[in-house]
Amino acid sequence: MPGYELFGDAERKEVNDVLQTGIIPRYGFEAARKGVSKATDLEKAICETFGCKYALLTTSGTTALITALAALGIGAGDEVIIPTFCFAANFEAIIAVGAIPVFVDVNDTLALVPAAIEKAITSHTKAIMPVHMCGSMAPLDELIDLADKYNVLLLEDACLAVGASYKGKYLGTMGHAGVYSFDISKMITCGEGGAIITDNEEVYKRARSFTDHGHDHTDKDRAADPHTYLGYNYRITELHAAVGLAQVRRLPQFLAIQLRNHNIIYEALKDIPGITFRSIPDPGGNTGAYLSFFLSREDIARHTFNELKKAGLKSIYYWYDNNWHYIGNWQHLKSGSWMHRLYEEQKMQVMHYSNQAFPMSDAVMGCCISVGISLLWDETMARDIAGKIASVLQRTAE
Ligand SMILES: *Cc1c(COP(=O)(O)O)cnc(C)c1O
Repeated sequence: MPGYELFGDAERKEVNDVLQTGIIPRYGFEAARKGVSKATDLEKAICETFGCKYALLTTSGTTALITALAALGIGAGDEVIIPTFCFAANFEAIIAVGAIPVFVDVNDTLALVPAAIEKAITSHTKAIMPVHMCGSMAPLDELIDLADKYNVLLLEDACLAVGASYKGKYLGTMGHAGVYSFDISKMITCGEGGAIITDNEEVYKRARSFTDHGHDHTDKDRAADPHTYLGYNYRITELHAAVGLAQVRRLPQFLAIQLRNHNIIYEALKDIPGITFRSIPDPGGNTGAYLSFFLSREDIARHTFNELKKAGLKSIYYWYDNNWHYIGNWQHLKSGSWMHRLYEEQKMQVMHYSNQAFPMSDAVMGCCISVGISLLWDETMARDIAGKIASVLQRTAE
């Protein structure tokens, strides 16, 4: 699952380059850094690896989302469509820029349902934000068509699917902008970090300015830069970028191990009666970070989850009860527990949308279990774990 599991000499070497110069910030100190700029190198490597014109690093996937929304001009009163199964960061970012999260059902793709998006679109809709959960993808052709048809922006959250692709293109590169996270649980890690990727130069420049106090980056003297817009400080450090640089180069290695282990687990489970698998719009583009499947009923899924835990299996997820990822448990959002006051319209809309019932999502997520796939398993361990999961499912599934 996460690249931190194989942290090693390559990462240490890149971090050491930075420690040798002692220049930890990404901007400035040009003479002292002696040509070392891991942030610039990582941004270039992201563009080359994933196929986009521009990449901008930030401190996290969350700040990358906030930045992308701001750079795309999304703000007060704008509605942004997101799935009921995502991460808290998605609505946090939308609320942070003054916009309104509009929640939409997921189906067995564990991603936005195009027909449900269409129902949720209003004259205030500014963007659709598919969240590509757990190493696989939303049905992008349909979402691109919808964005075109209704003339709204498409912002892909590929934080949890870095390295996944759809019909030959990497996730994150198909909308107006995309966002990656490199936190510790992600496919490749910086420890903490994120990126905005886009082919649009204007969006890139705005994002760069937003993450650095509004400095325009005229490439002369940064301190004397004019400020066209207001911005903040979401700058990554060189130390974090150094880790990510080593990791992005190892992505093919990580993916090969992960897919091998994923397929070993899948082969052991695929013929067990009473389970069905997540539907994947482009199976060839799956990273294999998780294997997700459905039991026939919520009570059976809950029981199976408990039995898998009892059997000593680790990294098993029942998202329906998870505090971070499913709308059912976002009490802080639904009860309006904000430290700072929102403007009245935003507060009313957020509470309205977050209090909706989602029977379709509940039916899907209530039956879903995911197995996180480790990079530390060799083939023998993967077979052993596959056998243990299979023997539980043979007892519990019906
Ligand atoms: C991890 C994650 C984020 C946020 O990333 P951080 O780097 O932890 O801030 C956003 N969206 C999804 C789907 C994620 O999994």
